[in-house]
Amino acid sequence: MIIMKRISIICIVVMCLWGTPVYAEQVHRVAAGETLSSIANSYGITIDTLLGNNQYVVNPDLIHPGLVLIIPDANRQYYLVRPGDTLSQISQRFEVPIPMLANINNIRNIDLLYVGQILIVPKMYTVEAGDTINSIAQKLGVEVADLLLENNLSPSGPIYVGQKLVVPFRSKDREELDAIENTLSPIANRFPDTFFFRGEPDGLRVALTFDDGPDRVETNAVLDVLERYGVPATFFLLGSNIPGHNDVIARLVAEGHVVANHSTTHPDFRTLTEEQLRNELLTVENAVYDVTGLRTALMRPPYGFVNDDVLRQISNLGYRAIQWSADTKDWRDKDIDQVLINTMPNIRDGSIILMHDYLTQSVTKEVLPEIIHSLRSQGYSFVTVDRLLGVNAYKP
Ligand SMILES: [Zn+2]
Repeated sequence: MIIMKRISIICIVVMCLWGTPVYAEQVHRVAAGETLSSIANSYGITIDTLLGNNQYVVNPDLIHPGLVLIIPDANRQYYLVRPGDTLSQISQRFEVPIPMLANINNIRNIDLLYVGQILIVPKMYTVEAGDTINSIAQKLGVEVADLLLENNLSPSGPIYVGQKLVVPFRSKDREELDAIENTLSPIANRFPDTFFFRGEPDGLRVALTFDDGPDRVETNAVLDVLERYGVPATFFLLGSNIPGHNDVIARLVAEGHVVANHSTTHPDFRTLTEEQLRNELLTVENAVYDVTGLRTALMRPPYGFVNDDVLRQISNLGYRAIQWSADTKDWRDKDIDQVLINTMPNIRDGSIILMHDYLTQSVTKEVLPEIIHSLRSQGYSFVTVDRLLGVNAYKP
């Protein structure tokens, strides 16, 4: 009996080690009495790693119960640069070659580290006797292809005992933030008064935005939550959803939210004629005007698709285009923890957060209190997009 038990315990342990996907991230909700250090300990990670994956946490002393922390996958670790640190010391401490550290962290000048800088530090694996590429991948719980790619190896090896391999890690948050910055910054630079995807860091402010409504059930549910917490937000309305929802639009404005334009039929604006693009915006603008007496001046391009031509037309019609820098993917994932995992690691001072009040099966209203509580307890305030950006929400 005891032996049976021991075998089954071993099986469970082995399953945990071998069967748990190490890429998996998870949500930790802070309980009373917990500290960053106790939380990091309980997951076997460092405080640096915990903070590195939750960069919205700017006040480590304000870790209140209910605060949401995203625990990164087991192969991801971070290091916060301390006074006097050099890349060479960090390289030695973690046994990661300097060029690899510099490359992963986009460091051009290895002498220019700054205190508080958050570095991604890959984990290393030392090849043992009897290892093959396949067995290592299995042992680490990673894809063979990722292991080969990360280490510039061919499928036939060769590998040797004692060789140090980089454990592949996924840093989706960084990749996504980098991708957003790299793609959208040049557009924002070309159209500084027309195109925005985030605000400047300034006193911990973020803007919640909701697309594709109005919807009688979902918009009202979101409004109930925002009312309960006293949080203003910006709603990009879809014209095809407006008929029959004038009361919902009136409620939006009455409760201090900003109403904005998300087109009439949700087309890719890059494929439209000038006349079609104008009609897409004007139909919604007129419908909103009929209910509220306000003429929308902010728009969100469907799918975020724009080009220079589209932006020039938008500007000529008296509009500013508002993209986002943190995407909840609530419409796709419809799962509270996954939405938090998608969102929290990407939030920074000035973030524009993309959510939906249409076809999300209520995940949005359920996840909102946790996002609001977490950010507020860190000292963030919520503002409408026009205030975040210092522009007008409506035409004069
Ligand atoms: Zn949309």
